[in-house]
Amino acid sequence: MLCKLCTKYFIKEDSFANLFDFESICNDCKKQFKPKLNYEIIPIFSGEIYYFYLYEDMQLSLTQEAYLEKYINILYNQMLIKNQGYDLVIYLDDYLFNNLEEVKFISLGYVKIFMFSLTRKSLETKDIIL
Ligand SMILES: [Zn+2]
Repeated sequence: MLCKLCTKYFIKEDSFANLFDFESICNDCKKQFKPKLNYEIIPIFSGEIYYFYLYEDMQLSLTQEAYLEKYINILYNQMLIKNQGYDLVIYLDDYLFNNLEEVKFISLGYVKIFMFSLTRKSLETKDIIL
């Protein structure tokens, strides 16, 4: 089998239990790309941003990102099940990260903001304080 994340070949033992279960990633990638819910609370002038992400500072290729986006439902569940009363929800993609002035403009006046992305984007270097 060819791993969809590292594009290396791996061997999977076949048995009746996994006869119709086709593995798409190798065991090393299962460990390396196991999603883990992390969050940071960023104070802003009008309140706080709750920033959730699944992977610490990882540089993903487009193929890896496309495969791993299936785990983004973990973040959706965090947003919906917890129901913390967020005023605004922002998905922080690469475009928005490079144009954080738009986030400042959008989030003016909101107190509790839920922001999420697949990988952690370092906001320390950005001027996000509103
Ligand atoms: Zn792999």
